[in-house]
Amino acid sequence: MISNEAKALDSLKKRINLCSRGITLPDDLPVLHLQSKQGGAGPQGSACYVGDAPGTHNSQISLVIYPQDHYLAKYALPTKWWDNNGGDEEGSGKKILCTNDNIFLEKVPSKWQGVLSNGQKTTRLSKARFHPYGTFSMCFYRGCRHIDNDDGCKYCTANLLIDKLNFPKKLPNELNLEYLKLAISKNPIRSVTLTSGTLEDPETTGKELLKLAKLIRQETNLSIHIQTEPIFDQDLLNELGQVADTIGIFLEFFNENIRKQICPGKSRAFTQDDYMESWEMAVSSFGWGKVFTTNIIGFDEDYEVILKGAERAAKIGVMTAILWLRVGSPLLGGDLTPSYLEREDETLQLHKEMGKILVNNSVDTMTPENAGCLGCHGCNATKEAILWARAYQKKLNL
Ligand code: SF4
Repeated sequence: MISNEAKALDSLKKRINLCSRGITLPDDLPVLHLQSKQGGAGPQGSACYVGDAPGTHNSQISLVIYPQDHYLAKYALPTKWWDNNGGDEEGSGKKILCTNDNIFLEKVPSKWQGVLSNGQKTTRLSKARFHPYGTFSMCFYRGCRHIDNDDGCKYCTANLLIDKLNFPKKLPNELNLEYLKLAISKNPIRSVTLTSGTLEDPETTGKELLKLAKLIRQETNLSIHIQTEPIFDQDLLNELGQVADTIGIFLEFFNENIRKQICPGKSRAFTQDDYMESWEMAVSSFGWGKVFTTNIIGFDEDYEVILKGAERAAKIGVMTAILWLRVGSPLLGGDLTPSYLEREDETLQLHKEMGKILVNNSVDTMTPENAGCLGCHGCNATKEAILWARAYQKKLNL
C-alpha cells in the first residue's frame, strides 16, 4: 500500500512540475493574449482543477499555458485531450486535458463579464479570473512610487496592463465594490485579496486600503487579505487588523544581492531588518500565521539563504511562500530562462524544507482556513509542501 507520505510527495512533485514548467495545449490551439507572457510572479493563465483521474478535483492551480512557439515551451508539459469515448462517464462532455504522467486539468468555471454603472467593462478591470479557490483579487492601485522613480521591481508588469490593455490606474472604491458584488452574484467567491502598488508611502497606501476594506466588510461576508510595503504605525496596523483578516508584506527575496538587483526601489526603501520589525508589529495586530511574505525563485539564488530567512520569519509568526518568476516583463529581457527549470531536484528539496519550517512553526494554514493568498496558494506549491510535511511528521511520530 502506498503511504500517505508517498502520496503527498507524488502530489508535491506534480505540482512543482506544473508550476515550474506550465503546459502546452494539443493541436497548437491558439493561446489567449498575455497568458504566459504576463510577467510578475503570481497567477497566470486560467484557474484549473487538478486531478489524478478524469473529473477529479483534488486541487486548483493558476496554470501557465505556453504558446507552442514560446521560447520556454520546450520545458512545458505537453497535453492531450482526454478521450471521452474511451474513458468513464465522469468526464463526458467536459474539456479535460491530460499530461503524459496523467495529471488531469479542467478549467474552473468563472463568470467575470459584466458592465459597471459607469459603462466600464469588467474584463478591463482585473485579473480576477486567474485566481483559484474563489479568490477575488482586486488591484487597488496599479501604479507605484517605485515605477514613478524608474526604480520599479524588474519583474513587475503592473503598468503593462494600463499601457497595453487600458486598465484604469485606480478605480473609485464604490466601483470596486460594485465589481466585487457582480462577481459574487455569479461565482462562489471565498475571499478577497486587495493588492496595490505603493502611493507616496506605505502608510498612505494602508489608509486608503483601510477605506476600501471597511466598505467591503460592511457590504459582504468575505474574508479580506491586504498587501502593502512595510508599515510601522501600530495604530494603523491595529485598525487594518480589525477589518482585514490577513496581511501580506512581501520582501520578495531573502538573498540580498538579488533583492537589490531586482527590486532596487523597494530594497533602498527598507532593509530586511525593517521587514522583520514591520512583520512583528503586523503579527501583534493580525495574529500568528496571519502575516505573509514571499520569496520569488528563478535567479539562480542560494536556496539555503531562503530557508534561513523563512525560518527567521516563521519564528515570529510569518508565513513565507515560494513564488515562481514569470517571464514577460521588458525589464527582465526577452529570453530569460528561470533557473528553477534547470534545478528540479533542488527545488523539490527547497519545498520540502519550506513545508517543514511552516509546519514546525504553526504558520501552515491553507484553503479554506485563511483569507486571500494565505487561504489559496493557487499559484504556487505551498499547500502541497505543507501537506507533505504534515504527512512526513506523522510518519516520524508513528
Ligand atoms: S496565492 Fe494569491 S496571488 Fe496566488 S493565486 Fe492565490 S490569491 Fe492569487
